[in-house]
Amino acid sequence: MPDLLDPPDLADLPDPRDPPALRLYNSLGRHVEPIEPVTPGRVTIYTCGSTVYRYAHIGNLRTYLAADILRRALEYLGYQVVHVKNITDVGHMRDDTFDTGGDRLELAAEVEGKTPQQIADFYTAAWLEDEALLNFLPGSVMPRATDHIGEMLELTATLVERGLAYEADGTIYYDVSEFPDYGKLSGQRLSDLRAGHRVEVETDKRDPEDFALWKRAGGGRLMRWPSPWGDGFPGWHIECSAMSMKYLGERFDVHTGGIDLKFPHHEDEIAQSEGVVGHRVVSHWMHSEFLTLADAKMAKSAGNIIRVSDLATKGFDPMAFRYLALTAHHRSKLDFTTSAMEAATAGLRRLRRAAASPAQTDGAAAPMELSGPAAPPGAVAYRDRFVTAISDDLAMPQALAVAHAVASADDLDAAERRALLLDFDQVLGLRLGEAEIPMASGELPVGAQELLQRRAAARADRDFATADTLRDQLGEMGVEVRDTPEGQVPSLRR
Ligand code: AMP
Ligand code: ZN
Repeated sequence: MPDLLDPPDLADLPDPRDPPALRLYNSLGRHVEPIEPVTPGRVTIYTCGSTVYRYAHIGNLRTYLAADILRRALEYLGYQVVHVKNITDVGHMRDDTFDTGGDRLELAAEVEGKTPQQIADFYTAAWLEDEALLNFLPGSVMPRATDHIGEMLELTATLVERGLAYEADGTIYYDVSEFPDYGKLSGQRLSDLRAGHRVEVETDKRDPEDFALWKRAGGGRLMRWPSPWGDGFPGWHIECSAMSMKYLGERFDVHTGGIDLKFPHHEDEIAQSEGVVGHRVVSHWMHSEFLTLADAKMAKSAGNIIRVSDLATKGFDPMAFRYLALTAHHRSKLDFTTSAMEAATAGLRRLRRAAASPAQTDGAAAPMELSGPAAPPGAVAYRDRFVTAISDDLAMPQALAVAHAVASADDLDAAERRALLLDFDQVLGLRLGEAEIPMASGELPVGAQELLQRRAAARADRDFATADTLRDQLGEMGVEVRDTPEGQVPSLRR
């Protein structure tokens, strides 16, 4: 296991520059607005990471990918980024709305006959492997919740001192009626939340919306720590308040997670963190929509999960999934289908082919300036379009469209196309410099059959200009066509 706790010392980083703004939708306030970092030129991001009691599925990874793209886009624009991704290895209950149903880690440990620590280590390593397969940049810090129990107890004690939390039989609840802004992120009023609450299971709460900061450990509980209120364990939400403020300070720039974390997890985090420090802590809240399968949310409980390793079994390169995720805005739902993955594979091949020439045939290309006075003007225009797309609320479908425009641009030479695509790939992360994805023998890329039929029709009409254009288009897909007395014979270029 790598040592995941390697906090950067912010004071040691060089002075940041002041790059162009990136505008990002903020769930708090529901507007697209520029990220205005607390420290100009340096953006601090906290991502709610994996609950490590099971393998991550590609739905989870779609959400982490949105954070990876944000980070890469900011770095591309010239920002320094400090990215904290936490590891939830305690406190996430099966039903967090009610803080009931058993700790996910402990339940998994029981099922697999291992200790909670073994479960956490195993699935943390698996998560990091999946992230690497999808070419995610590693977090600057990846703190484990169980290494921060002391910080969580401090926050809990401060909230009790301030009258924002109370004890009931060894469990500490947050008193939501004492935090006037409760509901500001999810846009809900306390009275509506109370009205919508199911029958209350825990009777020692003062208000059904109160939530646990610290829970008393029952007799069979394995993961437990001493506290001023007796042996217990932390609630899930307090972990993220503790770890975000520890590594990023009492005011930081962006907090990311899936849309289902907006309530209650992030609403409760705001109540905790702001309750302790007395002011706003997070500037931008970024929430991503779900990956679905046959239009149902991908979730372990629904039994419809796909892992990164399953993609290979289905004959797909993990990078094609990354490409697929980039075809939709992260705030739109995305349905995972075989045909969408085939189209993504074809798109990825096309970009790799354009990025491969001419250096892979002519030897190494000289590094090319793509901005500044020495840059070719044609290339600068494409790069500007790419920057506009990524800076406009991470419009990745548009950014991909610019990459495709470069791949087929007549006004650029092959070296310029390659240089631009490799430059864009710092954000796309599609490993465009790698060799093309091999095709199964006999398999034609998506769309080739249709082009072949159109070409046959054009030849029958003796429209040779159209037939030549279609031959070129097939060539771009890697399909060569020979005309024989029996008709066209397509073959895959190797
Ligand atoms: P968990 O490990 O259950 O805490 O989930 C990790 C992250 O995955 C959270 O940010 C969730 O919001 C997100 N997530 C869960 N299911 C999906 C899905 N089907 N699509 C996208 N994100 C998801
Ligand atoms: Zn969190």
